[in-house]
Amino acid sequence: MYHSVGDCSDDPYRITVSPGRLDRQLGWLHRRGLRGVSVADLLAARARGAGRGLVGLTFDDGYADFADHALPVLRRWGFGATVFVLPGRLGGTNEWDPLGPRKPLLTAEAVRRLADLADTDGLEIASHGLTHVDLTRADDALLGAETAGSRALLGELTGREVQGLCYPYGTVDRRVADAARAAGYRYACAIDPGPLTGTFALPRVHVGEDDTSWRLLLKYRLNRLRRRPVPLTDTDAGAEAGAGSGAEAVAESR
Ligand SMILES: [Zn+2]
Repeated sequence: MYHSVGDCSDDPYRITVSPGRLDRQLGWLHRRGLRGVSVADLLAARARGAGRGLVGLTFDDGYADFADHALPVLRRWGFGATVFVLPGRLGGTNEWDPLGPRKPLLTAEAVRRLADLADTDGLEIASHGLTHVDLTRADDALLGAETAGSRALLGELTGREVQGLCYPYGTVDRRVADAARAAGYRYACAIDPGPLTGTFALPRVHVGEDDTSWRLLLKYRLNRLRRRPVPLTDTDAGAEAGAGSGAEAVAESR
């Protein structure tokens, strides 16, 4: 889980990695025989039993620096990635982070250009909601706008099916996961979803500027202990979570 790629001298939320560090981290994956791909490609490969050696790379918030700094590094290694953008804030800034620093977000035109790189560069444009709100605190109308509304807007902008949603702040509960599924997404990313872990609450590991190769190795090893594995089918996740709400019924009706 990455966010911004650029100068990380002023970075109170620890969301920035320098292009040089990103390059070394992707090189580390490459040396271990691993390849970075978008989450959509990772899930599609897993579904046909070909997920081994693939690592989903995600860039949250849709910072403008993705195009300038992250894309050239990804291209150098031949890696794909998913960029989670906020269609309600295109061309704006990360106003939801009170401490700043202000970082410009991709414009609509830039998002459209990146979406066109899906086939050549393995890039996936997916939704981070509309405006970066905690969805577990949103009422039904806002939750609908942030999930279904953002998906429709992004689909219109890119001319492609929007498969993925990333929960702002990684916060998700059963109601939010159900809304993501009902909105037509095929998967959703969280951070540490615990018992909700599944296709609609994919766990992710934060990777930052401090992550040198030995720290990456440690995170890679500890991940197996700290997070439960993602079941291959989403119905397994619902059964595991033991929730009796509509999620399983929806999954079964497909
Ligand atoms: Zn975010």
